[in-house]
Amino acid sequence: MRLANLEGRSTIVTDVGLIDVATTSRGAFSTSVDKCISQLDKLRRWYESAQPAIGEAITPAELYGDRRLGPVVTNPQQIFAIGVNYRHHAEEMNRTLPEEPVVFTKFVSALCGPNEELPVPSDTTDFEVELVAIIGATARNLSEESALTAVAGYCVGQDFSERALQMKGSPSQFSLAKSFRNFMPIGPWLTTADEIADVTKLFIGCRVNDVQFQDSNTDNMVFGVAQLVSYLSNVVELRPGDVIFTGSPHGVGAARRPPVFLRSGDRVVSEIQGLGRLENRAV
Ligand code: ZN
Repeated sequence: MRLANLEGRSTIVTDVGLIDVATTSRGAFSTSVDKCISQLDKLRRWYESAQPAIGEAITPAELYGDRRLGPVVTNPQQIFAIGVNYRHHAEEMNRTLPEEPVVFTKFVSALCGPNEELPVPSDTTDFEVELVAIIGATARNLSEESALTAVAGYCVGQDFSERALQMKGSPSQFSLAKSFRNFMPIGPWLTTADEIADVTKLFIGCRVNDVQFQDSNTDNMVFGVAQLVSYLSNVVELRPGDVIFTGSPHGVGAARRPPVFLRSGDRVVSEIQGLGRLENRAV
C-alpha cells in the first residue's frame, strides 16, 4: 500500500487512482498521515477488506511532481540521518569506512513535501538522494533480526546540504548545515515495507537538469536498514513517524572536480526503484 499526504489529507495511492482515507472509511481513520502511520497495519487490513471506492483517477506516475503532495510524515518526534554510509561515497569524500553508524539529525523545520522549491541559501548547496525509512511502532533494544518489524515503510528523501557551513570548523557541522528551509523533501508517498521485496537491492539515483549525477544501488550501503534501526533502538526509543535518512550514495556535487553546486533554476530529480521520485527546483 502507498500512503500519501495530499493537500493535508491521508490518501491511498493505487495503480488506478486515489482513495481519501477519512472520507471512504467514514471517519474510522484520520485525515492525518501521522495518525495513519501509527496504525498502519489496521489501515492496510481495512483497505484490503473494505475495497473503498477510487476517487480521482490518476496513476502514481502521473502524480510525480504534483505540488499538492505534502511530506508523508508531518510531525516526526525524531529525525535521524546517517553519514558516510555508502562505500563508494566514503571513497569519493576521502573518508575511511566507519566502524559504527555516524548519526546526526536534520531539524524538523527543514521537512517539506516531495516537490517543493528549494530556496538556495549559498553557492555551495549540494544534493544527496537517500533511502528513508519511516518507523511505525514504539520500540527499544531491537535485534538486527527483529529490527525491520518496527519499519512502517520507505520513501525517497533528499538530504540537501550546505557544504561551506558543514565543513566550517572541526568536528563538522552536519545537522545545522543540512537544515535550511526545504532541505528535507520526502516522498512522494510512503510505500509499506511489504511491497518492497528486498530493500538491500534498489536502484537509487539523482539527476540535476537531466544529467545523472548519482547512480547507485542500496546494496552499496555500509550499514543496512536493519542494522541502523537496531543500532539506534539500543540507545533511543523509536516512535511511530520517526524518520531515518540512511545515507547518500556517491556522485554528490562536492566530490566533483570542479565541484558542482545547485543554482537557481536547476531541477533536481531524486528516485529510488519501487518508491517513486521527488522533483525539486532550486530558486
Ligand atoms: Zn546525507
